[in-house]
Amino acid sequence: MEKIALVTGASRGIGKATALALARDGWTVHVNYIRSREAAEAVAAQTGGMAICADVSDGQAVSAMFEKIGPVDLLVNNAGIAGQIQFQDITDAQWNRYLGVNLGGARNTIQAVLPHMLHEKAGCIVNISSIWGLRGASCEVAYACTKAALVGLTRSLALELAPSHIRVNCVAPGVINTDMVQVLGQETLRDLAEQPPLGRLGTPEDVAHAVAFLASDKASFLTGQILAADGGFIV
Ligand code: NAP
Repeated sequence: MEKIALVTGASRGIGKATALALARDGWTVHVNYIRSREAAEAVAAQTGGMAICADVSDGQAVSAMFEKIGPVDLLVNNAGIAGQIQFQDITDAQWNRYLGVNLGGARNTIQAVLPHMLHEKAGCIVNISSIWGLRGASCEVAYACTKAALVGLTRSLALELAPSHIRVNCVAPGVINTDMVQVLGQETLRDLAEQPPLGRLGTPEDVAHAVAFLASDKASFLTGQILAADGGFIV
């Protein structure tokens, strides 16, 4: 039977690597994006699904996306935004945008997939948090709050949905070499690469493999778990 997945923010970075890894595991993967249409279409051409534009923070756009792609068996909430700003300078618009995309996006997509999963009494959800949601992150308070909230969302929802045989897990990446972290500059990235015991930055594939494992039958007894893919950074 065909297994259908949606990965949000899968046009590049961790989401793209995750979509490709899932496709290698036999999933048909729909590829959500907000701006990078050509890149998303190139990924979808390799994963057998559709490239679908939707701002995950917009509930109506998310509903429209699911009208196009139909029900899914696996949802990976990967779409996210980050940025560095001192807490006292965060505006209402910035605060609301971080929460809207990183946390509200997961709420919107999960509420959209649940009717089918509850009906089937099966399904799998993987949320992408961050090690900065497990420990503090100076000048990234809003981002860290959203990522900590995804940990609470994962654990609470795992308890709520376990009787319906829907598993909810989370991957908390360390510093992964994608577009998102390039703003930090090469010197800071070199410093960050030295911090985890494994002594390097992560690759998008390092995270993708963790997600693919949690999505697989090999993880059928795992729910409510937070798997840090971080080279030992927070051990
Ligand atoms: P990235 O390279 O910046 O890619 C972000 C992806 O999210 C892109 O596909 C982008 O689409 C999409 N996106 C952004 N806003 C969206 C929205 N409102 N609606 C739908 N899609 C949206 O990021 P990344 O490094 O791969 O990170 C992916 C996830 O991992 C994020 O949740 C991030 O917080 C988390 N994470 C990353 C790191 C790291 O070090 N890189 C560490 C820990 C956690 P477009 O291409 O169309 O703009």
